Formats: sequence, structure tokens, C-alpha cells
Amino acid sequence: MRIVRTVDELRAALAERRAAGSRVGLVPTMGALHEGHLSLVRAARAENEAVVISVFVNPAQFDDASDLAAYPRQLERDAEIAAEAGVDLLFAPDAAEMYPEGFATVVHVEGALTETLEGAARGGSHFDGVATIVAKLLLAGLPDAAYFGRKDAQQLLVVQRMVADLRIPTRVVACPTSRDPDGLARSSRNARLSAEERLRALAIPRALDAAAAAAAAGERDAAALRALATETLRGAGIEAEYVALVRADSLAPLERLEDAALLAVAARVGEVRLIDNAVLRAAGGDPEPVHPDEEV
Ligand code: AMP
Repeated sequence: MRIVRTVDELRAALAERRAAGSRVGLVPTMGALHEGHLSLVRAARAENEAVVISVFVNPAQFDDASDLAAYPRQLERDAEIAAEAGVDLLFAPDAAEMYPEGFATVVHVEGALTETLEGAARGGSHFDGVATIVAKLLLAGLPDAAYFGRKDAQQLLVVQRMVADLRIPTRVVACPTSRDPDGLARSSRNARLSAEERLRALAIPRALDAAAAAAAAGERDAAALRALATETLRGAGIEAEYVALVRADSLAPLERLEDAALLAVAARVGEVRLIDNAVLRAAGGDPEPVHPDEEV
């Protein structure tokens, strides 16, 4: 595996691979690689001869300086993990490479996709930071496909919108949320949970499961479904930042569950902010997949 630090090096390395006929798959990450990231790498590996992973803790998407400072950084270990997973190229730029002196461009996706949920909780600049860095990464590598996780469902929608609007010639591939065997969604932030907090954090997947089970049993009232999830969290001493039932394509809030919708949760466990989501399906609802690419 090669490690490259600059956009120019990345382009030169990918030009070689393309000349040899390789398709290129990119997995953008903020590092502290875990099995969730590796599930994206495997998806990329299955469809491309060359797999690139980027590791960049993007300051522009952090609204909270202490969160940015506490974000785990372990590039050497990440390089070992990526190499072992069969990644060909690790792109690890520093902040000055991505945001050189005088940098003044922001990619802004308008509307509910960026203003609700994480946009409301973390401030409007969060998704500007995400859209700008993903646009830069895609334009730097021009991969055939880029792989994103459904754990960050809103981020995925923002990226899909941005790529479609800017006609960036990269296919955006959505990958299922990878979970630890006990149900907790894998996240770089989990490393910051104490053993006691990690146990309490299990209330998050439990809350999603409880709401999904109630939906499957016939509950369609959004307030009741949200209350069930909220109470499950409270039972573990977790006060949710939000528990929202929204359309899976537009994130528009729903009062009733028709067919299928997304239940999205954000909550702090101790100092660590976690997000998760699940598709809820109404009993007797349309069995059509909620995501066009969903495997059901
Ligand atoms: P991050 O490093 O947390 O910014 O995540 C980089 C990419 O990995 C994003 O597309 C995330 O959605 C994805 N990802 C992170 N955790 C998981 C997970 N548990 N399952 C699937 N994808 C994930």
C-alpha cells in the first residue's frame, strides 16, 4: 500500500492505475479505522481494481473545538489496518493541503437536507464542511465510485444531492450500518466510551429496535414511536438530542408512519455524541425497499 500526502501525488498515482485499466473506488474517512470502515473497503474492493482510502479529520465539519481536539488520530495504526484490508492507496493530507492559505470556497447544499437533524443540532456549517471536503476529495481523485455508510444517513443524502447537482462523475454507493455483535453501531467515537458508558450506549440500538418492533406490530403514530425510543434511552439515563421520524429521501418530518421511514437518533453518552438510525416499516405497508439500492 502506498501512502500519499498531496492531491498531486494522489492524481499521479491514480493516473498510473487508470492507465493500467483499473477502476478506482474511494472510501473517505476521518480515520481511527474500525470494522465499519472496513465494510466500506470490502464493498469498494468488490467493484474496483484500485481502492483508495482517505484519512482526514476535517476541521471544517466540527462545530465544537473540544470535539475536534478529542477526535482520535492514529495514522500509523490506520495505515496498518488499511494495508491489511487490501487498500492500495492511503491519501492522508494535512489541513494545509486541503485548506491552503486563502482558501475561500464553500459547497453549500440548501434546504432541509442540511438544516434538519444534524444540521440543526451541530449548526449550519457542519454540512458545508462535509460537502466541501467530499467535493474536494472526489475532484482530487475522480474515483469511479465512492462508498459511504448509512450510519450517517443524512450525510449520505447530502453527498448524493451534491454529487448529482454538480454532476461529479462518481457513483455514490451506500453501505449498510456495521454493528458490533451487541448492536452498537461501530464508530470511531466509541473508543472514547468508558466500559459503563458503552453498556449504557446499547440503549440506542435498543431504542431503534423497540420502535421498529412497535411499527411492525401496527403502531403508526410518529409521536408514539418517538416516545417509545425516547423512553428506552431515558431508562439508561440518556437524554436524546433528537429522536426524529422522517422521510428517508427528503428528511421531511412525519406525523404518521406510512410504509417505511427513517428513525434518526442523536444522543450524548457521557461526553461522547453518538448518532444512529433505522428504517421503520409499517405493518401491512408497502414492502418496496425504502432505499432504491436497499437489499431486503
Ligand atoms: P467517519 O470516519 O466516521 O467520518 O466515517 C467515514 C465513512 O465510514 C462514512 O461514510 C461513514 O458513514 C462510514 N461509517 C462509519 N461508521 C460506520 C458503520 N458503523 N457502518 C457503516 N459505515 C460506517
